[in-house]
Amino acid sequence: MNDLVANFELDKESGSVSLSMLPFMHTGVVLMIAWTNAWCDQRGIKPVWTSWIRTEMQNARLNGTKVHVEGRGADLSLKFQYGWNEFYVNEFEADFNAEFEEIGAFAWKDDELVSRPLVLHDSGHGYHAHLQSRP
Ligand SMILES: [Zn+2]
Repeated sequence: MNDLVANFELDKESGSVSLSMLPFMHTGVVLMIAWTNAWCDQRGIKPVWTSWIRTEMQNARLNGTKVHVEGRGADLSLKFQYGWNEFYVNEFEADFNAEFEEIGAFAWKDDELVSRPLVLHDSGHGYHAHLQSRP
């Protein structure tokens, strides 16, 4: 368990999470990460992942849902310095939702559970995309 906890640290050089966490992640979100990396690569955007799987304690500090603890969530920075702009964010939102509608995590909307694979928000740590797959 100690090794896993250590791997939650962000890499100081790249600002991104450690790839060694991949085996602990849900297959659906691993697919989302791979697809997103390729999508970014095609546009000269640097994909910087700021959070993947989290411990209960880390999650409590960030006030998050269980999605990250269960290894079904991934956060991608949408900062301008990595190549993002409004056009790309809108394009990403449309492309991503179309690609992953069938495996997105469910969320309530008007008394109905709907697939919501992507949430764009600023949780106080900068504007980012939260990707989530269903269990
Ligand atoms: Zn998230």
